[in-house]
Amino acid sequence: MKPTSTRERRFHGHPVAPGIGIGPVHEAAEPPLAISTAKLAQDDVPAELTRLDEALTRSRHQLQKLKARLAALPEDSQAEIAPLMDVYLHMLGPSRLLRGIRARIQAGLLCAEAAVQTEAETHAEAILALPGNDKASRARRAEEVREIARRILRNLTRQPFRSFASLSPGSLLAAEALRPSDAALIQPTQFAGIITAEGGADGHTAVMLRALGLPAVLGAEGLLEAVKPGSMAIVDGESGEIILNPGKASLEAARKKLSAQTRAKGALARLQRLPAVTRDGTQITLQANLELPFELPMIARAGAQGIGLLRSEFIFMNRETLPDEDSQARIYQDIVEAMDGEPVTIRLLDWGTDKEIEALSGFLPELPEANPALGLRGIRLLLRQPKLLEPQLAAIIRAGAAGPVRILLPMVSVTAEVRAVREVLRRVWRRLKRRRNLPLPDTPPPLGIMVETPAAALNAKALARVSDFFSIGTNDLTMYTLAADRAQPVAARLYDPLEPAVLRLIRMTAEAAQAAEIPVSVCGELASRPQAAPLLVGLGIPQLSMHGNAIPRVKQAIRATTRTACDSLADAALAAGSAEDVRTLLGATP
Ligand code: PEP
Ligand code: MG
Repeated sequence: MKPTSTRERRFHGHPVAPGIGIGPVHEAAEPPLAISTAKLAQDDVPAELTRLDEALTRSRHQLQKLKARLAALPEDSQAEIAPLMDVYLHMLGPSRLLRGIRARIQAGLLCAEAAVQTEAETHAEAILALPGNDKASRARRAEEVREIARRILRNLTRQPFRSFASLSPGSLLAAEALRPSDAALIQPTQFAGIITAEGGADGHTAVMLRALGLPAVLGAEGLLEAVKPGSMAIVDGESGEIILNPGKASLEAARKKLSAQTRAKGALARLQRLPAVTRDGTQITLQANLELPFELPMIARAGAQGIGLLRSEFIFMNRETLPDEDSQARIYQDIVEAMDGEPVTIRLLDWGTDKEIEALSGFLPELPEANPALGLRGIRLLLRQPKLLEPQLAAIIRAGAAGPVRILLPMVSVTAEVRAVREVLRRVWRRLKRRRNLPLPDTPPPLGIMVETPAAALNAKALARVSDFFSIGTNDLTMYTLAADRAQPVAARLYDPLEPAVLRLIRMTAEAAQAAEIPVSVCGELASRPQAAPLLVGLGIPQLSMHGNAIPRVKQAIRATTRTACDSLADAALAAGSAEDVRTLLGATP
């Protein structure tokens, strides 16, 4: 940065993450990595492999943490970035890349850093050299390999991606450009905001900065040339404006905005101890969705009344063999114990479409299905594979000795599926009862279903006779109702859970549950949108399950409305002609 004048100047960039940041600007330059090319002594190989494993574990934790943060983002941002996180996590599993890196340490006697760099580069080059027209996709895949290698390298050398750590707390972090992996290592409490000269509002970095909750403006051209290190600036993540060397009036205005922002955050934190009740007394239960066990403390802080959806896929991921009954039971027990008497709803393994699980390879069809979303998903796979279904049911039953648990079936379309699982559940229960000294609950756990196919919603009355509870999965319900996959750009515009067709199915399901006197909840992403909460309450949903971060805002929305307003909103939404009309109605709720 060159020394320049100290008069107030304004710059504009892409507003990426809202909020006001005030502080001295400090630029973070990337420190060069020095990688040794000297050969290891044979005796040093085990220690080098351990060092690699530690770096891999740290990399995995960082990515999982990041993935958990993403769930607090708007759905479209999540849809954009979550698959990328999965790609990275997959590469950190038992992948070809890692096998190659280990071989270079063991056989090539390279130090871990050199092994990672050489193997990743060979992989990236091989991807780029693949035949075919899709050059852009090859370039993206090669960059993903290089990106994960950078993460492992930084974790090996224990060097931050940038010299972030040396920057004084409260500064505005400035950089020419930030990669997603840089963003992933930013400690949100360390900085007042982020500014870059390059980058746009829709890239992965932008999405990650939103997840960090730091005010950020990207692509502010000319800014870096104009600042002296340490000069004061204001960043407004809403308008995209950066004020360099702000005068008194600008500072005062920004400070006012900042304190309003702090007050709003404080109000949300205070909500934790308050009930989710409408102004006229309707109690709503707010629960958390759990994807990874390390999210548990955050769930407790958010004031969740139990776990409404434990997606058990993580137990099967990043491993080569299936987890057995005992190891599953331990994981579920730990979670149930941590929830301290609050109910935990464990969904059986929901394999299908985007959920890649290597350990399942022997259980899946040999040939890829032409239409996986309509194929062997969720409960369909489990009913064909008792080796998957029975140990999981047994493990969940056993966890029931530690506290209240419920079993949730994914992707149900017909009553026969529920009956068939009930039969297996009875058998597994009898088998467990015969085992001595095995702590068990008094009765088998309640067995409920995800309502996420239009068939399940349309036939909810009959399904309510064979199910102990319903949980509506609006993500899949929307996809199957509108025949639109949000991951496909052409269909993504059609994908909208606010379409009256989807709302009608939610209403039907709620009515059937009410008539049969069984609990019903919504656990899809729609439940985490504060604006949609009154609508769901009006549609007859007394229980919502969402990412823990979303609970305070949803609670705030419920506490600000009345049941009467929710009911009229739902009636109006069901009569609306389009998702657009419903959105307008939501904006108008008290
Ligand atoms: C859903 O479909 O809404 C749901 C909660 O399940 P998943 O997102 O895990 O498919
Ligand atoms: Mg689903």
